[in-house]
Amino acid sequence: MMKRPKTVVLPSAAQAAELVKKMRGAIDSNENYRSKSLRINGAICAKCGREFDQASINLLTVHHKDGNHNYNPPDGSNWENLCTHCHDDEHSRGVLGEYLSKST
Ligand SMILES: [Zn+2]
Ligand SMILES: [Zn+2]
Repeated sequence: MMKRPKTVVLPSAAQAAELVKKMRGAIDSNENYRSKSLRINGAICAKCGREFDQASINLLTVHHKDGNHNYNPPDGSNWENLCTHCHDDEHSRGVLGEYLSKST
């Protein structure tokens, strides 16, 4: 019996474009929930109360209360604005440190 050579299917240009679009979309929605959370909760750390301005706002991150980054209800009920320090602290309690390694 002849072994058929495995055909490697390369993504077409259209598929590749679709993939890029998807990835961009994920980044966009990430940006969206962050700015939404900042608008809803204010530019202030929910834990230590530190306030942020335009220059320091990138140190303020959005924490997902249930740990699920894909759960982003528009009313902001799953978000908490935490400074990087408090966010780190929150995740060092054994939840997931994965978020910070991605966002910092
Ligand atoms: Zn803080
Ligand atoms: Zn978090």
